Amino acid sequence: MTAMLIDGKARAAALRADVATGVAAFVAAHGRAPGLTVVLVGDDPASAVYVGSKGKACREAGMISGEYRLPADTPEADLLALIAQLNADGHVDGILVQMPLPAQIDTDRVIATIDPAKDVDGLHPINTGLLVSGRKGLVPCTPSGCMLLIREALGNIAGAEAVVIGRSILVGKPMAALLTNASATVTIAHSRTRDLAAHVARADIVVAAVGIPGMVKGDWIKPGACVIDVGINRVALPDGKSRLIGDVDFDSASQRAGWITPVPGGVGPMTIACLLANTLEAAWARVRG
Ligand code: NAP
Repeated sequence: MTAMLIDGKARAAALRADVATGVAAFVAAHGRAPGLTVVLVGDDPASAVYVGSKGKACREAGMISGEYRLPADTPEADLLALIAQLNADGHVDGILVQMPLPAQIDTDRVIATIDPAKDVDGLHPINTGLLVSGRKGLVPCTPSGCMLLIREALGNIAGAEAVVIGRSILVGKPMAALLTNASATVTIAHSRTRDLAAHVARADIVVAAVGIPGMVKGDWIKPGACVIDVGINRVALPDGKSRLIGDVDFDSASQRAGWITPVPGGVGPMTIACLLANTLEAAWARVRG
């Protein structure tokens, strides 16, 4: 391996420690801790694990963690009513509705109902608009975490060629906006992109957010590039066990890249740390008015 490993776990731990310090300052100034409330609809086991770890991280940072677990057949109107109640609750600074939602619920309507000032997932159209226009707002946690890792590896990225593979509203599109705002020259690739390898070959920064295990091959990578692997794919092993791997073929890519994130231990831990940072930021923004 020639690449430097980007240690997302360590970077996330440092960010969480900073957030805990910020939370203590908030409590000292306002006599209450910032509050994050997570809403889970249905009983998807992976979502339940995510919700559990968000609550735990929240409490470890000294914040108030709220949690609602609603049945899978919850009518949309009931979820919207709960969001309205949380919007009005002065002790709730951040609201996160765990995705995906059951089919009877319109995800866009749910996101649009969350108060943009409490939208710690950064998915409300107002926050999306602020991000694209380069103004201050709440930024989706995963791309925000990727950006911190890129900055730590490369510093100033003005003029760098960046290729983002994936155009979801959760990862790919906000990632491209963040890189553009940092003056990188950005290409967004997706399932209809022709000759993906040729795009990746000229990139100083590659962010892979696809959901296909090992799709990005090492011989596509420009020597010395910074490779950020967002993918989390559980693959079965011959012995019946399973393991998590990313969208990048780590073994070959780490022979060419200058910096690379591992899976697990790269982008994943940054996502929760950035969620805590967003909640603290939302709390300060609300008290400042
Ligand atoms: P998504 O909504 O399914 O989007 C996947 C994107 O990949 C789409 O834009 C799709 O293109 C593109 N794509 C599919 N096949 C492709 C191909 N052959 N070549 C190029 N692009 C292709 O997924 P997501 O929510 O963005 O998540 C992506 C991955 O990141 C998943 O593995 C997910 O588990 C992981 N993830 C990790 C974290 C974390 O904290 N580490 C957070 C969120 C997501 P089209 O738009 O053309 O369909």
